[in-house]
Amino acid sequence: MTFVPQETIRRKRLGERLGAEALAAFVQGIKRRSVSDAQAAAFAMAVCWRGMATDECVALTLAMRDSGRLLDWQRQRLPGPVVDKHSTGGVGDAVSLMLGPMLAACGCFVPMISGRGLGHTGGTLDKLEAIPGYTVRPAMAQLRRVVREAGVAIVGAGPGLAPADARLYAVRNLTATVESVPLITASILSKKLAAGLQSLVLDVKYGSGAFMPGIAKALVLARSLVDVGCGAGLPTQALLTDMNEPLAPCAGNALEVQVTLDYLAGRSRPARLHEVVLALGAALLVQAGVAADDAEARQRLLHVLEGGQAAERFARMVAGLGGPAGLLEHPARHLAAAPVRRPVPRPQAACDQGLVHVQAIDTRALGLVVLQLGGGRLQGGDPIDPAVGLSGLAPLGAVMDDDTPLAWVHAASAEAADAAVAAVQAAYRLADTAPRLRPVVAGRVTLGGSPDLAEEAPPAVAVVEGHAS
Ligand code: URA
Repeated sequence: MTFVPQETIRRKRLGERLGAEALAAFVQGIKRRSVSDAQAAAFAMAVCWRGMATDECVALTLAMRDSGRLLDWQRQRLPGPVVDKHSTGGVGDAVSLMLGPMLAACGCFVPMISGRGLGHTGGTLDKLEAIPGYTVRPAMAQLRRVVREAGVAIVGAGPGLAPADARLYAVRNLTATVESVPLITASILSKKLAAGLQSLVLDVKYGSGAFMPGIAKALVLARSLVDVGCGAGLPTQALLTDMNEPLAPCAGNALEVQVTLDYLAGRSRPARLHEVVLALGAALLVQAGVAADDAEARQRLLHVLEGGQAAERFARMVAGLGGPAGLLEHPARHLAAAPVRRPVPRPQAACDQGLVHVQAIDTRALGLVVLQLGGGRLQGGDPIDPAVGLSGLAPLGAVMDDDTPLAWVHAASAEAADAAVAAVQAAYRLADTAPRLRPVVAGRVTLGGSPDLAEEAPPAVAVVEGHAS
């Protein structure tokens, strides 16, 4: 029968469940451009309003995976599982850069297909491009070689993997349909499935710097990702992690590479960042059968960190993808530094009132400061300044004295620095009492059963929106 895209859109608009055949035809139409932008947008809006059942979302995900090529690692006979972790995005979230090499040093193979900065959040590919020469678009043979030899390659999807997602994503971005849980699920998982993974752990973030500020909505996304991932045959679990403050004490591309190098070399390991790296890594090692339990997995991860094997894998990946040798030992020789560096003092009003406790942080606003400094894109093709950003960010609960700044601004000009100083001051709420601090890992979602939430996690008021069952 002839494929009529508007019939599929109409059925979804009326709330019908679409079958695998109809979804496959629509996704092929997106790929081949027999579906117009207007039709793709109407479909996205219908899904946004009507949601999708789990099996329907599995079918959409598989159709998007099959819109391009699949990485098949079987012929390479890799002596370990092919795994990955994926984050829904945050501020100061450099976990991928650290965890990829650590997993590789533990015997896994990590073809990590990553993305650009989105909205206020930083992008792993933008961070890696702060390393001179590093290519996030290697030829397929180069990607395979680096995964085989370094155990890890962090790269972009390129035009070959799940191309229907790239087109649908661009349409969603212009039509206020990015937030749809089934569309996010299919978008993320189609690329992960196309990468030929055998095991996946997701870092679903909630809080002021996440796309889903409330934990209830993050739980809905986590449940969808886990159920659809497992439904598509990929063992998947999700951890819920807190993004009410930047994860690293800095945000910005070269600055986050610097934090990664310090972490891998053992010069500095910020506690919250370290806990997220270990929790995600341990979950993956256990799920992939590399370690028997959480304790053994953490021990292995710490062993490869302390022994320098993880740092060595990072160096091998960077060299294999065109970056410089000696980056770990001499970061300053290779990473760009901003010409203007300025401290952010406590606002005068807070000093006058004796407010010293960091009570709350508008983490999204800090992400936007980095964007406005030039560390992210206001428009699709904008160039990025790798050197700019924020460092020394005071954490929640910090007690500020008169000499310690809230942060340091790294800017391209004095005017940009002035604006950033004021914006960072506005993003910090200071008070005369200490805030309640919550654990950075708030819970875990696995297939079946109810989510396992930490006792101190914020209450999750049930929200089921745009997600039919
Ligand atoms: N990341 C993706 O790859 N897709 C989405 O829809 C959202 C985040």
